[in-house]
Amino acid sequence: MITRFRILLMALMFATVSAALGASRPNILFIMTDDHAAHAISAYGSRVNQTPSMDRLAREGMRFTHAFAVNSICTPSRATLLTGKYSHLNGVPVFNRFDGSQPTVAKYLQAAGYHTGMIGKWHLGSDPTGFDEWIVLPGQGDYYDPSFLTAAGRKVIRGYVTDIITDLSLDFLKRRPTNQPFFLMCHHKAPHRGWEPSAKYRAEFARRTIPEPATLWDDYATRTDALHENRQRVFDDLTRRDLKMTPPPHLQGQALAQWLNAIPREAEVERDGRREVLTGDALNRWKYQRYMQDYLACVQSVDDSIGVLLDWLAAQGLAENTVVIYTSDQGFFLGDHGMYDKRFMYEPSLRMPLLVRWPGQIRPGSVEDALVINPDFAPTFMDLAGLKVPSDMQGRSLVPLFHGEPPKDWRTSLYYRYYHDPGHHNTRAHYGVRTQTHKLIYFWKKDQWELFDLVKDPDELHNIYSDPAQQATVARLKQELARLKREFKDDDQFANEQPEGPGVDGPFPDKPLLPSQP
Ligand code: CA
Repeated sequence: MITRFRILLMALMFATVSAALGASRPNILFIMTDDHAAHAISAYGSRVNQTPSMDRLAREGMRFTHAFAVNSICTPSRATLLTGKYSHLNGVPVFNRFDGSQPTVAKYLQAAGYHTGMIGKWHLGSDPTGFDEWIVLPGQGDYYDPSFLTAAGRKVIRGYVTDIITDLSLDFLKRRPTNQPFFLMCHHKAPHRGWEPSAKYRAEFARRTIPEPATLWDDYATRTDALHENRQRVFDDLTRRDLKMTPPPHLQGQALAQWLNAIPREAEVERDGRREVLTGDALNRWKYQRYMQDYLACVQSVDDSIGVLLDWLAAQGLAENTVVIYTSDQGFFLGDHGMYDKRFMYEPSLRMPLLVRWPGQIRPGSVEDALVINPDFAPTFMDLAGLKVPSDMQGRSLVPLFHGEPPKDWRTSLYYRYYHDPGHHNTRAHYGVRTQTHKLIYFWKKDQWELFDLVKDPDELHNIYSDPAQQATVARLKQELARLKREFKDDDQFANEQPEGPGVDGPFPDKPLLPSQP
């Protein structure tokens, strides 16, 4: 009898606690894009575009100025996001297939009663785990009429990928069980390479003249061989396909692919009603414009998507109890240092946009300068859900920062490590440390170092590693780098990791993750 009473009492207590948690635990809407640099958001002072919906998040919430990816490339960033761990501990240093049997924040939240969803770009090579519902792009996915994979198989959805992911997210939210809080990962493909804009924005942006960044013509003087050897340069590496050049009408099949994949040495364009053949610097400037026009047009559709989701939350009365987060899996070079793509530990690639809105908890319009890293996301979601952060997660919860109260022992340096060497862009493997004032980078396969004073030289144009006046700083940062390697348990196990297989930007081909499905 006593036992039965106890069970009843415990059940009642559990129900009460569950109801209380259900009422108080916030929903989490996590919106992430692929390759969207913070300096293409007007709230971050963009010189190249206006992003009203992202700005709305910044205005109504918190803008983080120093959020960074610890391995600036798509698949590793996603594995870190889910696990709260660095690449060497989650098994995804390059494009390794993610082992979905390991603990993830989605699994923890699902077990704690969150209704979990994953929609859009996944790019981890294995089926999503820990989600009540998932529908993901295979591999990189397509911009137009994309295939999607679900637990039930593959299907094609007609339309533009950013709009489709928005609609699928709304559909998930509308159908959700309302007695549970939700955790939705809405992951856009845009503005990843391909850079195929929507019909709505293609022509509008093609007419624009985009300001050139200060370092577009960087000559790499004082920098290591690694930067000189990179193959992600706007002038030298963008293909006719990237630049959306029109092929001769007679080309087909292999010949057409060859033509599109070649790097143009001249381009015929129409200006003021006249045909003109561009070469040299004029061609280079045109390449930058073509690249950025399409990139920014893709961003604009993402901004629209955020607006749609924010409006829906407001209309449903859900805005108050929903934490909305906007970020990107890493930054991107927008012609900075003459490059596109990411990978390097330089600021445009390292820095992630991070905007967080949580009405009543985050002071509107606040700005946080603390050093944040992407292993912090999973612990943050745990904390928001009222769960204890597992000891093997390597980041820290951002919730105290949301409340404007960074812990006194908050990190003053961060550790970075990139492995994908040579990869598709001949980017040399490196690791390094960044503080609020300095950055030390070590290209370990080349045994070459770079040191930047981020206060005096925010564009990282002057490598001062060999400057005799800097030797105390070098010694101090080397010591800190060694300390961080120990702290994060990096024992160099993946130091010789080679990129896997072929592919545009990774080895996962655009085919179903589920081989048994048609
Ligand atoms: Ca990416």
